[in-house]
Order: sequence, then structure tokens, then C-alpha cells
Amino acid sequence: MSAEVLTGTPLSGRVAVISGASSGMGAATAERLAALGATVVVLARRKDKLEEVVTTIENAGGTALALPVDVTDRDAVQAAADQVTERFGHADLVFNNAGVQLISGIEELKVDEWQRQIDLNITGLMNVIAAFLPHLTASAAQGKPADLINTSSIAATRILEKFSIYSGTKAYISHLTRLLRVELGPKMVRVATIEPGMVDTELPDHVTDPDASRLMAGLIHDIDVLQSADIAETIAYMTSVPRHVNLTEITILPTAQAI
Ligand code: NDP
Repeated sequence: MSAEVLTGTPLSGRVAVISGASSGMGAATAERLAALGATVVVLARRKDKLEEVVTTIENAGGTALALPVDVTDRDAVQAAADQVTERFGHADLVFNNAGVQLISGIEELKVDEWQRQIDLNITGLMNVIAAFLPHLTASAAQGKPADLINTSSIAATRILEKFSIYSGTKAYISHLTRLLRVELGPKMVRVATIEPGMVDTELPDHVTDPDASRLMAGLIHDIDVLQSADIAETIAYMTSVPRHVNLTEITILPTAQAI
């Protein structure tokens, strides 16, 4: 069943930057925001996948630019932001979405996997904020809508065995986002989190722990989990409402997901 609810081009004139846009929720959101009229810039490491997203958007009559970048590299993210300025002016919608989930028991001491999650889910997220915040405040100061949406997870609040590091990074994102509103809300920058439950994407492909893999594969098999298009439509809605309305913390679960 199609997730599409919005019609027309409510995002016409918007410039959207989406990280983690080479697959899953980011790719679907890029395509949907473009269909609703936004100019879209897609960030991730896999150039070929980004170019597929751009081709899909362009074939549907939209405008998109692929900027291959590792968001853990602060200078590279800043260079991407400079390219956005050159091509399209200020971005006014940032979907800060790149993330990785690596599940393991704490006593296994998989410190490299801890670090990878911290580097991407926290430092990568902060690099995107640092590079694009001046875009958002400038857009808001001109009276335009300005959105920063960070992808957290229900893992930010749920107590799930072996999820400590991943959940910790997502708890960081959820609380950071609340705090950012204190400073950015008065400047009319909408700051929000989306906290999804199980979405059928590439995310579990990176998980090596057999218990966690079984849990996720079981959910995908047993219940009607969310699709990336469901997230895309939610982001589209959050960014289409009037400028004075901020849907601040959206938890989105498959109806049949119990935890
Ligand atoms: P995917 O694995 O499909 O997407 C992850 C994206 O992040 C990819 O586009 C990947 O692209 C990108 N990425 C990974 N590393 C980097 C990096 N160093 N620099 C730039 N981009 C990077 O999974 P999802 O769509 O599910 O994940 C999107 C977000 O949603 C994540 O933050 C995840 O934690 C969160 N989430 C997912 C849930 C789910 O059930 N799927 C539930 C709750 C939250 P590339 O490899 O090309 O760099």
C-alpha cells in the first residue's frame, strides 16, 4: 500500500540536504521530498547509489545533486556545504539521518564497533549540524521555513539487551535535539527528531550478533514492519506544516510492534 498522503508541491522552493541518502530511509525521503517540489542534495559514501537516487529524481522531473561524502570527516562535510551554497544557496531542510547499528554484548569488548557507532551516529551527526546550521539560521532569518530533523530511534528509550552503545548514541541524539530547540526555536529553526521502530532497510545487514539478527529478522518476518516510504511521508509532513508548527518528537512504530 502506498504511503503517500501529501499532494501537490508543498516543498517547492525548499533546498533539502539528506545524509544517509544512498539507501533506506534517506533515499526514500530524498525521492519523496523531490516529488513534493524540493531541490534535494544527497549525501553518503556510495557514489553509485547516490547517482541512482539522483537519476530516479531527475527522471521524475525533479532536481537533485549527489555529493559523496563520509560524514565523519568534518572538512569533507564542510566542503559539501560550500558546494550546496554555490549551487543552490542556503539549505533550509536538513534530514540528518546517516547512522549505523552494531549490536554486541558489552563484555565482548568490540571496541572498534563501539567507536564506529560513536563516530558516525554522534560525531557524523554533529559534523552535519556544524556545516549546515548557518544555512538554517540564515534561511529562518529570511522568513523561510527551516528544518533540522535528526534520526534517532525507539532504541533511545527502550531497554534492549546488547543495544547499549547504539541506544546510547540514539539517546544522545534525542536529548541533544531537545536542547537545540532552546537556542534555535526562538530563531524559528524547527528542530525535531524522528524515532522509528523497525523499518525494512539495509540497517540490520551490518549486525553480526546472532541474537540481534534473529530478533530483527523475526520482526521483519512476523509483522508488517515499516517501509522507508512510511518514514519519507512522515518527514514530508513534518516539513510541510506551517512554519510556526513544530512536530518535535515523532515516534513511528509498525502497528504490530510490541516493543
Ligand atoms: P541504511 O543502512 O539503509 O542507511 C544508512 C545510511 O547511512 C546509508 O545511506 C549509508 O550510506 C549512510 N552512511 C553510513 N555510514 C556513513 C558515513 N560514514 N558517511 C555518510 N553516510 C554514511 O539504514 P536505515 O535507512 O535504516 O538507517 C537510517 C537511519 O535510521 C540510521 O540513523 C538508523 O540508525 C536509523 N534507524 C533505523 C531503523 C530501522 O529499523 N531501519 C530504526 C530506527 C532508526 P553509505 O554506506 O553509502 O555511506
